[in-house]
Amino acid sequence: MNIVLLGAPGAGKGTQAAKLVEKYGMCHISTGDILRAAVKDQTPLGIKAKGFMDAGELVPDDLIIDLMKERMQQPDTENGVLLDGFPRTTTQAVSLDSMLSELGRPLNAALLINVENEAIVKRLTSRRMCRECGHIGSVKDGDTCPKCEGEMFQRDDDNEETVRNRLDVYDKQTAPLIDYYRGKDLLLSVDGDRDPDVVFADVVALLDL
Ligand code: AMP
Repeated sequence: MNIVLLGAPGAGKGTQAAKLVEKYGMCHISTGDILRAAVKDQTPLGIKAKGFMDAGELVPDDLIIDLMKERMQQPDTENGVLLDGFPRTTTQAVSLDSMLSELGRPLNAALLINVENEAIVKRLTSRRMCRECGHIGSVKDGDTCPKCEGEMFQRDDDNEETVRNRLDVYDKQTAPLIDYYRGKDLLLSVDGDRDPDVVFADVVALLDL
C-alpha cells in the first residue's frame, strides 16, 4: 500500500506512522526526518534547507522533489510506502503522481489527521523528541527518553512563533491537498484530537489493514 499522511504539523502524523511501522512494518518516509538528518550532517541539502526549516517555511519544491525521486528508487519502497510530510504543495503532489506512475505503483489513500489549530499550538510547544531514537514525547517525559534513555530535546521549530508560522504555511500551501485527494477519491479522514491509541484504532479500520 502507498499512503500519504496529511495533516497540520503536530497533528500526529509521525506518531501514527510509528505505530503503523511497529505493527505492519511499513516503509516510513518522513521528509522532515531526512532533512533534519541532512542539517545535522551539514550536507549540501542540509545547508540549503536549514534557514527555511528554522523559520517554519517550506523548503523549495525542487530540492524536495529531487530528494523524493531518489528515495522512491530505493528497494525498500517496492512493497509500499507511508509518506509523512510529503507532499506539502500541489506541485509536490503532481510530482508524486508521476513518480508513482513511472514506477507502476498506485496511490491507495491520503489519510487526513484532523486537529484544531489551537490544540496544535499547545501540543507542539510542549513536544519533545529523543535525539537517539526519534521517539516523540512531551515535556512531561523530562530529559530522558522513556524508550531508550536518550536525551529528549525541543526541536528548533517547535517554539510558539515558528509553530504559528508553520500552521499558516500549512493552511495556505498544504491544506489545498485535501481537495486534491478528495477529487481523486482517495481522501480518508480521522479525528486526531484524541488519545493516540484511539486514533490508531480508527486508522487501522479506515485503511482496512
Ligand atoms: P516536519 O518534520 O514534517 O514538520 O518538517 C519540518 C520542516 O521540514 C518543515 O517545516 C519544512 O521546513 C521542512 N519540510 C519537510 N517536508 C517538507 C516538504 N515536503 N516540502 C517542503 N518542506 C518540507
